[in-house]
Amino acid sequence: MNKTNQRCITSVGPTVGVLAGAPFSGPVDSPHEALLALVERSGGRIDKAVLYNPDAVALWLYEKYPEKFRPAGECSDLALPMTSVMPSVTPVCFGSMYTGVLPAVHGIQKYEKPVLRQETLFDAFLRAGKKCAIVSTAGDSISKIFLEREMDYFIYRTVAAVNRKALALVKSGAYDLITIYNGNYDSRMHAKGPESGYALNALDRNVAFYHKLVSTIKKSYAGQRVFYGFCPDHGCHLIDGNRGSHGLDMEEDMNVIHFYGISG
Ligand SMILES: [Zn+2]
Repeated sequence: MNKTNQRCITSVGPTVGVLAGAPFSGPVDSPHEALLALVERSGGRIDKAVLYNPDAVALWLYEKYPEKFRPAGECSDLALPMTSVMPSVTPVCFGSMYTGVLPAVHGIQKYEKPVLRQETLFDAFLRAGKKCAIVSTAGDSISKIFLEREMDYFIYRTVAAVNRKALALVKSGAYDLITIYNGNYDSRMHAKGPESGYALNALDRNVAFYHKLVSTIKKSYAGQRVFYGFCPDHGCHLIDGNRGSHGLDMEEDMNVIHFYGISG
């Protein structure tokens, strides 16, 4: 894997905003060149975006278990390593992914989940007259830090309920931006280690759901150009007691694997 020119996850929000004709109003990271080029090659601007956020999927997992990611690669146009932000914990990282700025600017600099006042990708879409939805599990970062916007929040107790609703929302065609969060790999790798069968089973399910999501997008948005992504927040590493952790400035925690594609 070529790690040169590896961009930060702060490029994700600005990329989607520019592609959808809903740019941020303030200074943010520049859009990702490879993603702009991908969309340019396939005809220019996008109509809708669907971002799948599985928690804690490290780049090293992709390098060590490439076969586990094959379904994600097959339904995407690009596999892109990205660098996370410090401290590499969930609200800090998703805060940066969706605001396009570093933690010192958006203000979440430790494990806490306040409602962000910084402009987010959702705000940029809403200003452009677009409809947004978040589908996530109760109590998790994505369910909390983006609240208080004029958009729809679908918060459930289980990952299964989240994913059922996400597919229904895609089929409805009602939204211009859908964000879907799955924390099952993260919680299992904390409990039993990143390479435990228990955790890797959740990783398999994350990849399988992404594949199903993409095939549903391709069937449901006929005639529309949809940008989609598999976008984890940070990586993970093994700690004493066969448990997992993250939050440090180390390769295992800071490098993640993203996949992107465009349909239509
Ligand atoms: Zn996380």
